[in-house]
Amino acid sequence: MAEQFDVVVIGAGPAGYHAAIRAAQLGLKTACIDAALGKDGKPALGGTCLRVGCIPSKALLDSSHQYHNLVHSFEQHGISVKDAKIDVPKMIARKDGIVKQFTGGIAMLFKANKVTPYYGFATLHPNRVVKVKQHDGAEVELAAGNVIIAAGSESIELPFAKFDGEYIVDNVGALDFTEVPKRLAVIGAGVIGLELGSVWRRLGAEVTILEALPEFLPAADAEVSRLAAREFKKQGLDIQLGAKVSKAEVTGKGKKKEVTITYADKDGEKTLVVDRLLVAVGRRAATRGLLAEGTGVQLNERGQIVVDEHCHTGVDGVWAIGDCVRGPMLAHKGFEEGIAVAELIAGLPGHVNLETIPYVIYTSPEIAWVGKTEQQLKAEGVPYKAGSFPFAAVGRAVAMAEPVGFVKVLAHAETDRVLGLHLIGPNVSELVHEGVLTMEFHGSADDLARICHAHPSLSEAIHDAAMAVDKRSIHKAN
Ligand SMILES: Cc1cc2nc3c(=O)[nH]c(=O)nc-3n(C[C@H](O)[C@H](O)[C@H](O)COP(=O)(O)OP(=O)(O)OC[C@H]3O[C@@H](n4cnc5c(N)ncnc54)[C@H](O)[C@@H]3O)c2cc1C
Repeated sequence: MAEQFDVVVIGAGPAGYHAAIRAAQLGLKTACIDAALGKDGKPALGGTCLRVGCIPSKALLDSSHQYHNLVHSFEQHGISVKDAKIDVPKMIARKDGIVKQFTGGIAMLFKANKVTPYYGFATLHPNRVVKVKQHDGAEVELAAGNVIIAAGSESIELPFAKFDGEYIVDNVGALDFTEVPKRLAVIGAGVIGLELGSVWRRLGAEVTILEALPEFLPAADAEVSRLAAREFKKQGLDIQLGAKVSKAEVTGKGKKKEVTITYADKDGEKTLVVDRLLVAVGRRAATRGLLAEGTGVQLNERGQIVVDEHCHTGVDGVWAIGDCVRGPMLAHKGFEEGIAVAELIAGLPGHVNLETIPYVIYTSPEIAWVGKTEQQLKAEGVPYKAGSFPFAAVGRAVAMAEPVGFVKVLAHAETDRVLGLHLIGPNVSELVHEGVLTMEFHGSADDLARICHAHPSLSEAIHDAAMAVDKRSIHKAN
C-alpha cells in the first residue's frame, strides 16, 4: 500500500528542500525524494547548488583568490612571501569538506523538521502517486495530497563535444581537476564559464573562453559588461567573441592526450589545442524519466515544466519550482518559490517577485545587479535617470586596494522610483541587496540618497550614486 503524505517533494536541491522544510513547519506530513549520490557514493541532499554548483564553486573561487592575492597583491601592503605554492588536492579536499558539511546539514534539517527523506529516483504518476526506485533497487509508492516537482537542471551537452569526465567536462569535472591544466578552453562566457575559468586562470592555467555570441555578457548593463571585459582581459582570460565551435575531440595518447577544438569566427576556421575543455553552454530542466504517461503535466519548447505565476502546473495538486521551470536558474529564486508554494498549499499567501531577483557573478571584480538595465529601459521606452559612482573615490575600497568598478542607480525620470541597481567591484554580491530592498519597498533614488550609510564603507558608493541621479553627488563632479 502506498504511504500517504500531505506533500511529496521530488528533488532536494535549494528549491525542494526549502519547500519540504517549510511545508513540514506548517504542520504538513512531508516527504522529500532525491536521487543524487555524493563523491563518496552515499546519498547527498542539497542538489546541484550544494554538491556541484554554488557552494563548491565559491569555495574554489575563494581559495584561488587567496592564492592570487598572495602572489600578485600582498606586495603593495608590504607583505611578501617567497615560494608561494599551490596544493591542488588539498584545495579540492577543502572544497569537498565544505560540500559534505552542507549536504549533511540538509539531512539534519530534515530530521529536525520531521521531513521524511527517500533516496532514489522518483516518477510522478497520475493522481499524485509517486513511485521511488531506491538505490538498493526496491520500489516504494507514495500517495500525496500535493506534489512539488523540484527536479532542477543538468548541463547541456554539445553533440560534437561529448563529456568524458576527464578531458571534456562540465562543471562537475572542472570542480575536481587534480592539477592545474596548463591550457584550459571554456565554451561559453556565461556565469559558470567565467567563474570556473577565473578559478583555474588564477591558479596559473592559460584560459581561452570561446563564446558564440558577438556580445560579452549581454544580460548585464552594457557599461558593466564593458568594464568586466577589460578587467578579465587584464587578468589574462582570453575571451573570444563570435567564436562558434563545431568540433572538439581528444587527440594524442597516454600522458600526451589533449583536446583539439575547431571553431570559426569572423576570420574563418581555427583550431585550438588545450589540455582540458570545460563546456558551459547552459543548463536544461532535468525531466528525463520524471513523468509517467497521463500525468497531464506539460513541458514547453525548452523542456521546462509549464507553470503559472504561482508555480502551479494546472494539474490538481501538482506544482513545480526552481530550475525546472521558467525564470532565472538561480538557487535563491528556487528558495523563494519553495517557500511560496508550501505556504500556498497551507492556505497562506505565497508569492515570488521575479522582477527583484538579484543576479551575481562571483568573479573579480564581482558583478551584481537587480532590476532593469539601461539597454532594457531604452528598448521599453521607459524614461529614466542614471547616477553612477566609482569605487576609486570610495575611501574603504581604496584602503582595501580594490578601487576598480562602480555603482549605477537607475530611477524613473518622473517618479524617481528605483528601476535597477548595477554594480561591479568589491563585495558587490552583498551590496546588491540594498537595491533589492529599495525596489521591494517601491523606494526612490531620493530614499537611497537620504539613508545614512556608514563611513568608511563600500556601501557609500550606492549612496553617492543615488545622489548622482539628481546631480548632487558630494564626492564627484556632477
Ligand atoms: C557551477 C555552478 C555554479 C553555480 N553558482 C550559483 C550561484 O553562485 N548562485 C546561484 O544562485 N546559483 C548558482 N548556480 C545555479 C544553482 O545551482 C541552481 O539554480 C540551483 O541548484 C537550482 O536548484 P533546484 O532545487 O531547482 O535544482 P537542483 O539544485 O538541480 O536540484 C534538483 C535535485 O533533484 C534531484 N532530482 C532530479 N530529478 C529527480 C527524480 N526524478 N527523482 C529524484 N530526485 C531527482 C537531483 O538529484 C537534484 O539533487 C550554479 C550552478 C552551477 C552548475
